[in-house]
Amino acid sequence: MSDDPTFGFDTLQIHAGARPDPATGARQTPIYQSTAYVFRDADHAAALFNLQEVGYIYSRLTNPTVAVLQERIATLEGGVGAVCCSSGHAAQIMALFPLMGPGKNVVASTRLYGGTVTQFSQTIKRFGWSATFVDFDDLEAVKAAINDDTRAVFCESIANPGGYITDLDAISAISDAAGIPLIVDNTSATPYLCRPFDHGATLVVHSTTKYLTGNGTVTGGCVVDSGKFDWTASGKFPSMSEPEPAYHGLKFHETFGPLAFTFHSIAIGLRDLGMTMNPQGAHYTLMGIETLSLRMQRHVENAIKVASWLENDPRVDYVTYAGLPSSPYYDRVASICPKGAGGLFTFALKGGYDSCVKFVDAVELFSHVANLGDTRSLIIHSASTTHRQLTPEQQAAAGAAPNVVRVSIGIEDADDLIADLDQALAKATS
Ligand SMILES: *Cc1c(COP(=O)(O)O)cnc(C)c1O
Repeated sequence: MSDDPTFGFDTLQIHAGARPDPATGARQTPIYQSTAYVFRDADHAAALFNLQEVGYIYSRLTNPTVAVLQERIATLEGGVGAVCCSSGHAAQIMALFPLMGPGKNVVASTRLYGGTVTQFSQTIKRFGWSATFVDFDDLEAVKAAINDDTRAVFCESIANPGGYITDLDAISAISDAAGIPLIVDNTSATPYLCRPFDHGATLVVHSTTKYLTGNGTVTGGCVVDSGKFDWTASGKFPSMSEPEPAYHGLKFHETFGPLAFTFHSIAIGLRDLGMTMNPQGAHYTLMGIETLSLRMQRHVENAIKVASWLENDPRVDYVTYAGLPSSPYYDRVASICPKGAGGLFTFALKGGYDSCVKFVDAVELFSHVANLGDTRSLIIHSASTTHRQLTPEQQAAAGAAPNVVRVSIGIEDADDLIADLDQALAKATS
């Protein structure tokens, strides 16, 4: 009942995946703070370990509280299954892990969360993987970057830090033609504003740390599978299509069909990489998701007000919010994220780097933190923090030039936010 796909988003964000606890009737999803689960008998244990029966063994793999969150997010995204992880960055590794191998590459957008640029340009090299970064507004460049060793295409729906909107339909047409899965980081949009599977994405990844939890309490991540990709067709994804020695030669795609990726992520990914979400963390995120649509509406409403005010202020050079008619991405809002362009954007100060540094020190209501998607309004100077490890060229390509600050607009009163920015601008430019 709770998963009735005809229910609207507001109903599903509260009910999907959850039922009253069968043992106690508890209405709120209990925090199953248990590491292990008692087997009915030896045959039951053997069946679970052979993946012949679905059930709980050990909480590195599955946990009933985390399972509710997985089903909740999968339902809201319109996917067939989801796997929660310890952080958004863990989710990215978990998404790539079954697809990649030594010598293989991912074609990624230049406009990504700063930590993702670092993870992709540096750390994944240790696995023998590589990333090719291109401007995803240049479709010919995306096409040209895909080669025989490409195993994934990766972008954000509403992209960091500028709130740029990716033309997911055009990108998925390219990845489809190449027979390569498209992974979309939907953190900044959330499934309320954007549903990447409706635009051809194969997998969606989330940092649940951000809007899904919504109030800056826990880190977490999630990989959602559309269930639509044919993992066998090209022979390029042996983890899915070829016999798995650790499970007596079981072939994931043949055995689990559309759930192949989800089962692989639990049975191999979580089992061996261990990037597991804990049940307490899942509880906080479940609490947050119940009010997702209400918060996102207010984030968008406030972002429009604040961005419009900034755009008309003479101390501000430009504002990148895609929800402003002046944005080159404005036309994409209606097709990609029809309920709004989110709460994240950047603006440039005419005073440059020095003004930006003074500005983040002068705000009082905004919090100067490395985070986004909180109920509170947040601000950061990307070039001196999150994008500090990047070269000046990478910073500029990412939209994190030295004269730019990024804001994540919260759900406070917009007038109070504007007043705070006004007084901070006065101090930063005096
Ligand atoms: C925060 C963030 C991440 C990384 O998530 P963590 O939970 O911090 O590991 C990835 N992508 C985007 C868009 C993010 O905002």
